[in-house]
Amino acid sequence: MPVLVMKFGGTSVATPDRIRRAAKRVGVEVSKGYDVIVIVSAMAGKTNELVGWVNETSPLFDAREYDAVVSSGEAVTAGLMALTLQEMDVPARSWQGWQVPLRTTSAHSAARIEEIPTDNINAKFAEGMRVAVVAGFQGVSPEGRITTLGRGGSDTTAVAFAAAFGAERCDIYTDVDGVYTTDPRISSKARKLDKIAFEEMLELASLGAKVLQTRSVELAMRYNVRLRVLSSFEEQSDNAGTLVCAEEEIMESKIVSGIAYSRDEAKMTLISVADRPGIAAAIFVPLSEAGVNVDMIIQNIAEEGRTDMTFSCPTDQVKRAEKALHDAKQRGEINYHDLVADMDVAKVSAVGIGMRSQSGVAAKMFQTLSDEGVNIKVIATSEIKISVLIDRKYMELAVQALHDAFELEKAA
Ligand code: ASP
Ligand code: MG
Repeated sequence: MPVLVMKFGGTSVATPDRIRRAAKRVGVEVSKGYDVIVIVSAMAGKTNELVGWVNETSPLFDAREYDAVVSSGEAVTAGLMALTLQEMDVPARSWQGWQVPLRTTSAHSAARIEEIPTDNINAKFAEGMRVAVVAGFQGVSPEGRITTLGRGGSDTTAVAFAAAFGAERCDIYTDVDGVYTTDPRISSKARKLDKIAFEEMLELASLGAKVLQTRSVELAMRYNVRLRVLSSFEEQSDNAGTLVCAEEEIMESKIVSGIAYSRDEAKMTLISVADRPGIAAAIFVPLSEAGVNVDMIIQNIAEEGRTDMTFSCPTDQVKRAEKALHDAKQRGEINYHDLVADMDVAKVSAVGIGMRSQSGVAAKMFQTLSDEGVNIKVIATSEIKISVLIDRKYMELAVQALHDAFELEKAA
């Protein structure tokens, strides 16, 4: 029988009653003839509570025990979902990550999936079981310890199961009804997209559209898993939600598909560094070794052999970046007069696969910001994305103006 993966996020399993509603949706797919793998998150707020308990108990916690504690939220919902399905006479049972076993690396709290054997669950399907309920977010390390996949990791569990079982589709039930052209809380004109390409979703996910864990989109793209994002609170039709799929499946698309933003960016400037061969490596190698995710970089024109170097990184990595650069200076590897961190910035990006074949997107973006009097501090581009760093107080204005300028309220 064809396999479908259905993933329910925290708000969709927040209470026994919500679990019942989710289970009904599963029942509908079973009656259509699918064998279903259900991936569940912990009840809404549960993981945060568990993380809080760990921090309260042991501030410098052992990451293996952190995983033992925070993985428990999904254990509860998996069992409850299986019980609910059984009450509806749907043959179902639950699996914890280690029972599958979903094998991961030993990077506790940020483990990566290595392997999902299918024989165990397939044997049960062959015996007549119709739904395998699997606890999301958790797995088992080569050492036999429980691991977790990082916050939001159940999305990644779901996509990995869809790839391993060759599922027809992976439906992600969440509290929003799809992927929007921008955050509807910022622009009332935001429009739900029927389809979006993997590459675009990847940019939007990593740029701060928090619908899907970035890693899950990477996996979906690699294994060509068709992902559907939809709300568990609305009546569903067959084309509900947003389908995240290969570019070839999208007939019409606009040049720009969405405007993303991120508030959690900082701009760091090294003032007056020597402009010599190897200086970029001398700065960015220590940053990378310290685990700082540098995003945008600009090196200014040198005057009298000295230049300013500016880069952006997540705000919570500023301290680490400062230390790495300070240490490199102490070791005599770099020399600068000052290091200035600007925390009052935001990143706004236009994303779209259409940019590959169309020029003029950057010009239009810069003109729009200029018309609004918004100063651009740093620019970065990729094949399908243009990002600018601006003062945070103009972020909403910029998002709205760009959404208007690219006419995203209109369908392609
Ligand atoms: N419960 C975990 C979290 O809140 C994993 C997930 O829901 O995806 O991050
Ligand atoms: Mg999530």
